Amino acid sequence: MGFIPQNLTREAIKKIQLDGLRWTVNHALANSSLYQRNFAKAGITAQDVRSLDDLQNLPFLDKHDLQADYPMPLKSVSDEAVVRIHGSSGTTGKRKVMCYTQKDIDVWADMFARCYELSGMTRQDRVHIAVGYGLWTAGAGFQLGCERFGAMAVPMGPVNTDMHVEMLVDMQSTVFCSTASMALLMAEEVKKRGLLSKIKLNKIILGAERHSDAMRNHIGELLGVDEIYDIYGLTEVYGPGAGLDCTAHEGIHFWDDLFIYEIIDPVTLKPVADGEVGELVITSLKKEASPLIRYRTHDMTRIIPGDCPCGLSFPRHDRIQGRSDDMFIYRAVNIYPNQIDLILDPMDGVGSEYQIVLDHQENGRDMMTLKVERSDSASTNDDTALSAMISDRLRRKLLVRAAVEILDPEALPRTQKKSQRVFDNRNGNSS
Ligand SMILES: [Zn+2]
Repeated sequence: MGFIPQNLTREAIKKIQLDGLRWTVNHALANSSLYQRNFAKAGITAQDVRSLDDLQNLPFLDKHDLQADYPMPLKSVSDEAVVRIHGSSGTTGKRKVMCYTQKDIDVWADMFARCYELSGMTRQDRVHIAVGYGLWTAGAGFQLGCERFGAMAVPMGPVNTDMHVEMLVDMQSTVFCSTASMALLMAEEVKKRGLLSKIKLNKIILGAERHSDAMRNHIGELLGVDEIYDIYGLTEVYGPGAGLDCTAHEGIHFWDDLFIYEIIDPVTLKPVADGEVGELVITSLKKEASPLIRYRTHDMTRIIPGDCPCGLSFPRHDRIQGRSDDMFIYRAVNIYPNQIDLILDPMDGVGSEYQIVLDHQENGRDMMTLKVERSDSASTNDDTALSAMISDRLRRKLLVRAAVEILDPEALPRTQKKSQRVFDNRNGNSS
């Protein structure tokens, strides 16, 4: 207990941030050729960082930068100081590899322990960790944080369902950590085998995958769990543990004594107004081996203004609403697939899968077709009304017109990986 710093005033945070920013810039420029090149190109030196406002003059760091000096692009310490590496799979090109000093590992452990504390866990808890172990940060992070916190880690990793179920029953684990699709799979399995009365779960921590409220509620109902938390993180910021929603579930608290978060417009690269959705850009304040200065995460979210009802003073961001790379432009409107999720999610009669198809018509206009599966319980008689209702919502919420096709349940392909949602035929590409 006591991992979350209490009573840090705004002034104290500002001082920690300025000191951390200046240390990070000096450290990176003294040791990383990648930062030296980027800053030289922008005509900026370490002396140009005198206040927190100066942050916005510093050059961005983007994923393509991390491929240039592969395999250890940001390494800013000697080889002897590096005690571990982790990597994440890049969707294109080389994976991103980050280095860690022992101090980095310690900061990560403390940071993750804060998340467990925020979820209301105690040292009596038993934590079933059903995420990937190895090169990925997921398993390592959940375990490191659990041991630092002092609860019991049950390090399962991606084993088969039988083994998960057996250990849930035998170990009487109280906390389940996984992606949303894994949690759903387990929840359905527990239900199918009639084991609900034999397990003891009371919390679920979900990471690394966008999911709908409907899916979350379904998981909770099947497992009889009320408390479901979202954890945020990425390999570039140590790993998972960069933030968690609290018991109020009104946004994800993040640790602004460890990072500075900026939200920018991904097109203009300028800061957006407080509370508006944009791309999250992160600067680290303590990372030694792989420091981050204005790293573009491409995760879309917004800062939630105001104080949290839970009373914690650490600021909050919203759940991740998609990736800035997934944006498409239709009739001069910028659209993110997540906006379609938000339109479809609360509607009766709509199933879980959809596709967006973009075509260029002979009359020179672009056409968007939204293909939506009917839910199992809905009737084909209501297709026309459902399609009209979805068109109407698209028009009101996104200010665009689209054709809506209602399909049979499971008509669209299913995949283990992230589903492709957008098919852009306008220039022969799909994204
Ligand atoms: Zn809170």
